[in-house]
Amino acid sequence: MKVLLKSAYHSDHALEIIFSSLRWLFLVLSIVVFTFQYIENPVHLKLNIFIALVVFGFMYMGISDFYLHKSPKGSRAYTLMTKGGPFFDFIAFSALIPLTGGIESPLFPLAYLIILHIVVYWRLLGGLVAASLFSVIYSITFFVQVSDFFSLHNLTNYVSQVFFLLMIGALGGIIVSRERKYHSEKHMLVEAANRDYLTNLLNHRSFQEHLRKDLEKGVDFHLVLTDIDKFKCINDKYGHVMGDEVLRQIGAIIHSIIPVKTGKAFRYGGEEFAILLYTNDQNEVNKLLVEIKQTVSNHNFFFEGKTFSVTMSFGSCKQKGERPAQLVEKVDKLLYEAKDSGRNSIVYSDVG
Ligand code: GH3
Ligand code: MG
Ligand code: MG
Repeated sequence: MKVLLKSAYHSDHALEIIFSSLRWLFLVLSIVVFTFQYIENPVHLKLNIFIALVVFGFMYMGISDFYLHKSPKGSRAYTLMTKGGPFFDFIAFSALIPLTGGIESPLFPLAYLIILHIVVYWRLLGGLVAASLFSVIYSITFFVQVSDFFSLHNLTNYVSQVFFLLMIGALGGIIVSRERKYHSEKHMLVEAANRDYLTNLLNHRSFQEHLRKDLEKGVDFHLVLTDIDKFKCINDKYGHVMGDEVLRQIGAIIHSIIPVKTGKAFRYGGEEFAILLYTNDQNEVNKLLVEIKQTVSNHNFFFEGKTFSVTMSFGSCKQKGERPAQLVEKVDKLLYEAKDSGRNSIVYSDVG
């Protein structure tokens, strides 16, 4: 429960699980409230409508829970069931309130929770629209139920109820919008601090952090350093702007080949890239590096109507509990062996 509440700070999914659990709780509460009221004043029509409502509620909530837990987040069904939840709540509320005492219903404060659920997705506008709709429902119920609606007592009740509904909608919307803005700005800052501007790969700072943490945790991985061959000539021949473009396109090639689940690619600095491959399988490492090497060397760069290509050299080594700087130095030596052996090649430490 504590974990769920904590993750609801930054996960809409966790928040949905809370709202869905609350829905079940309120279904039980509604049954209790209705049963007590029915015992005092048995009206068969009300009972039939209430039973239909409960059956509808069970069906909707069962299906929605199924999709909440079983369908992939972001899928159509998932979005429909989660975002559609507040609409179901609104319809159920509109039927439930007249059945459980109208403006006197102990379930009326459910409106506040439904408005808060709506502002999660539709922010200020959603909050205001929802609050207005609930105010309309309250007004209709009020005018149907209360005969002397111009008495000071009734009028004060009416105005304060509508006022609180609108306040919850407006303030809930503002608070959620503010928090979302804060989180997206924070995310942007963290991204900017960890991304390389030119290639959009993770940057040197991020590489050092990943390397340190992975070594501390004792995670199995291979460290790869790769460097563009004779890149200075590219700059000299085609200019630095084209040089930048080469870096950008090579960054994109590396990014597209490294599987998200098993690897991370970084711009180490200059025309050098680092790759962390989280696998024990030497063949898998070799397959990926050969693919990068060949894709880069087969790639055509265009400059003033002509094409040219570049090659890369690689050094790769499995971590064996070294310190970060030691490991980088070790792989750097392998990279320079690859350079010495004529470039466009991969050198591994004692494979096996
Ligand atoms: P080697 O095969 O031995 O690696 O030769 P190299 O020419 O690639 O190596 P060297 O270290 O002599 O030159 C690297 C060049 O990369 C020099 C530098 O101007 C260029 N470089 C570094 N960062 C950037 C960058 O962000 N943009 C551009 N256009 N060039 C860069
Ligand atoms: Mg180079
Ligand atoms: Mg270099």
